[in-house]
Amino acid sequence: MKLYIVPTPIGNLEDITLRALRVLKEADFVLCEDTRTTKNLLRHYEMDKRCYAYHIFNEHQQVANLVNMIKIAGSVALTSDAGTPGISDPGFLLIRECLAADIKVECLPGATALIPALVNSGLPADKFYFHGFLPHKKGKETTLKMLAERDETVIFYESPFRLVKTLEMMLHIFGEGRQISVARELTKIHEENFRGTVAEAVSHFSEKEVKGEIVVVVKGK
Ligand code: SAM
Repeated sequence: MKLYIVPTPIGNLEDITLRALRVLKEADFVLCEDTRTTKNLLRHYEMDKRCYAYHIFNEHQQVANLVNMIKIAGSVALTSDAGTPGISDPGFLLIRECLAADIKVECLPGATALIPALVNSGLPADKFYFHGFLPHKKGKETTLKMLAERDETVIFYESPFRLVKTLEMMLHIFGEGRQISVARELTKIHEENFRGTVAEAVSHFSEKEVKGEIVVVVKGK
């Protein structure tokens, strides 16, 4: 009995390792954030697997049941819609409960959005702080103030609909001259890596509607 955490592509379907494909092929079943998304990936690699849903809306009710299913199975794979499960995606709860039940857990290295965004940024990558998503409303300003004080490079995920508002808030909190990099649509056709100051980022992203998936990387204090 073993739970494999299997990273899946964040855009480019080629970004999956040979081992991830083998683990998916050999798994008794796959736990997926969205069974349709994972089934599309499996179909692309000509695999047909039993898939069960494991997502934020059912993880608390399902976790005990899933631990029992994994105990009986030989090997089970956990995927999310994109990137590494457990990173701003469901996974933590199941991993914790599997470990508590003496089930082996192994995370395969692979796709995640924060690492290419950090490395592309050209900002120091020796130490960094990853915050996941910012709070949407309440607590957002306090969180940004806390992030602005960090010495290491700061990384967070942001929605395209909130990006400009967040950058405008950052003007006052981080200062307009702080270096920033905004990675958009990594590994996809319209990939963009904007690098400049916070003030330049505000004018760049205010020009037209922001689309796609975003990672923000900011130089430490
Ligand atoms: N588990 C994923 C990982 O390992 O990166 C993160 C999942 S989180 C629900 C989705 C967020 O990740 C997006 O809103 C965006 O901030 C970031 N993201 C995912 N794919 C991306 C991409 N191709 N380009 C830029 N950001 C991406």
